[in-house]
Amino acid sequence: MPDLQTIVADIHRELSPRFGEGRLPDYIPQLARVAPDRFGLAVVTVDGAVHLAGDADAAFSIQSISKVFTLTIALGKHGDAIWKRVGREPSGSAFNSIVQLEREEGIPRNPFINAGAIAISDLLLAGHPPKEAIGEILRFVRYLADEEEIVIDGEVARSEAATGYRNAALANFMRSFDRLIHPVEHVLGVYFHQCAIAMSRQLARAGLYLAAGGTNPLTGHRVVSPQRARRINALMLTCGHYDGSGDFAYHVGLPGKSGVGGGILAIAPGKASIAVWSPGLNDVGNSALGTIALEMLAARTGWSVFGA
Ligand code: GLN
Repeated sequence: MPDLQTIVADIHRELSPRFGEGRLPDYIPQLARVAPDRFGLAVVTVDGAVHLAGDADAAFSIQSISKVFTLTIALGKHGDAIWKRVGREPSGSAFNSIVQLEREEGIPRNPFINAGAIAISDLLLAGHPPKEAIGEILRFVRYLADEEEIVIDGEVARSEAATGYRNAALANFMRSFDRLIHPVEHVLGVYFHQCAIAMSRQLARAGLYLAAGGTNPLTGHRVVSPQRARRINALMLTCGHYDGSGDFAYHVGLPGKSGVGGGILAIAPGKASIAVWSPGLNDVGNSALGTIALEMLAARTGWSVFGA
């Protein structure tokens, strides 16, 4: 295998003629304003080596990737009790689908579809006003990445709140089944702000605990137990790309979580944490070129969890 820096640089160079492919998510106006031809790749290995290409230093909206971090907090606070509120099965439906929720009486299929993440936001509000719950999420992400500069993009949060009819529908629907404890506006406030966290290559560092058995090998922070890290990775693999999760496992073979900001966090257990960003999305709302970049990376490194 060529060295990792060469692989990362080659992927960037080979994809550069395609920068701008895919569609921006126009249902969040502020995200539709991002220059579509940006592309960043950051690979941080468990021994601390960092390999960067393109716009790896540019901050992007992590959107649904935040759901990995809120799930981690919720598991820490409530343990296995969270599985009374959300399931652990892939949905086979779009990230913002409402159909399954009625049949399943307001219990979302998994914590990564919007309804599931909204249920997790509700759990994080226990004993807190919304501002504190949001502050806790931001502090946790800063702690994971070991970077104090990470912020929430208030414009993105406001933009999404102004047009978040679908998410409001999902939250109200769950409330109607008594599946949310806190006021819908509070739950959505937490959810929109967690999605609006902006990160650059910091995201790869933040994911390192999942690549290294629950402990960030660079800071020594023991974030979760090895068993919990394994289980979060399993959920990322089966549910992290919504109705594109099967295809992502087939082509890439790594636990991953996508966001409509065009970012993907992928974990190569025992090896590395990877963040890729390219704003154009494919038909199921995952980064089009980001997915291809990860497929190239997994093929060239032999990092697929299904074998080299
Ligand atoms: N904030 C976005 C939404 O709720 C997150 C969706 C995503 O990143 N897939 O629609």
